[in-house]
Amino acid sequence: MADRAPQRIQTESLQDDDSNKENTNEDFEPVKKKSKVDLISKGDEAEHKLEERLCGILCCAVCLDLPRICYQCSNGHLMCAGCFNHLLADARLKDETATCPNCRCEISKATCSRNLAVEKAASELPTDCQYCQQQLPRHLICQHEGHHCLERPSSCKYTRIGCPWRGPFHELKEHEESCAHPHKTGNEIMDALQAIDKRSTDQLKLYEEIFALLSYEKITFNDLQLRPFRTDDFITKLFYETSRFSSFQHQWVLKARVDHDQKDPTQSSKRTLSYQLVLKSRTSSPLKVLFMALKGPYGDLKVTPSVYEFEFSNDSTESDYHQLPTVDVLECNKLLASKTINVRLVLFQVQQ
Ligand SMILES: [Zn+2]
Ligand SMILES: [Zn+2]
Ligand SMILES: [Zn+2]
Ligand SMILES: [Zn+2]
Repeated sequence: MADRAPQRIQTESLQDDDSNKENTNEDFEPVKKKSKVDLISKGDEAEHKLEERLCGILCCAVCLDLPRICYQCSNGHLMCAGCFNHLLADARLKDETATCPNCRCEISKATCSRNLAVEKAASELPTDCQYCQQQLPRHLICQHEGHHCLERPSSCKYTRIGCPWRGPFHELKEHEESCAHPHKTGNEIMDALQAIDKRSTDQLKLYEEIFALLSYEKITFNDLQLRPFRTDDFITKLFYETSRFSSFQHQWVLKARVDHDQKDPTQSSKRTLSYQLVLKSRTSSPLKVLFMALKGPYGDLKVTPSVYEFEFSNDSTESDYHQLPTVDVLECNKLLASKTINVRLVLFQVQQ
């Protein structure tokens, strides 16, 4: 596995280079004769520029990210699925007609169509592997990061009997050969086994709780976009907020922040996001709600589900901040790097 992986990566990136040259020859000839000459003679540097230009052309008009699922208005302006739904939801809440952010023509599920060519082209454009920084076409990145990258974080195969080792995949074999854990006695590994037992019991409890919630009478879910903002403090802080959404005949927003219990968040490897649910409308009686953030249909958020509870009233409209249980730090950085965070929020109302 380890020996074959880099070869595969090589071929993939070569193919990628080839297809880019094809593009320069055919599609982009009319733009600038001069830049075409540059592209051929200067190689790498110029290709990079072509990719950047393509990103600029194929990106979503709202968030400027490359769309995985792409919609277009009747005049051909592009929006990623997350932003498209966001615009429609905003308009519905304000009781207005949704319009294209570029040309102001009306947009709806009926008047807009997918643009498969843009989706495919965007999936061919390169992105960096988060572990080894190698550039690969977007549609190959999951496979690479999960199975082929030599830098991907890996655990020792004796983790089940208590080995805490985690490191890059290319060091795994050497570690496992010298790992002390397989030589420990049954007595010594009991603690590790008990920890595993506890984890699986906790997990089972969580899933039983979620299944129980699914039989509640009042359940809603909303696919939301958290967008970055800055506070107006002297030293501004980054925070995220969704626009208003409605559930249980009330208006809500979701807020998120980077946890700043550490002095300099850029120096910390323990970076996490927390979120809170805020009630924006008046309520005649206290409103007890359980809520849970999940990966939405348009995002790449990787979270392990956690259910939180809060009783909202007119005096108490903001829930506590709860950690968004992302899988790891890299996952959190990936969220911070993208311009919006897509999340599905499920709400359960406790009947009193
Ligand atoms: Zn977008
Ligand atoms: Zn338009
Ligand atoms: Zn990699
Ligand atoms: Zn080990």
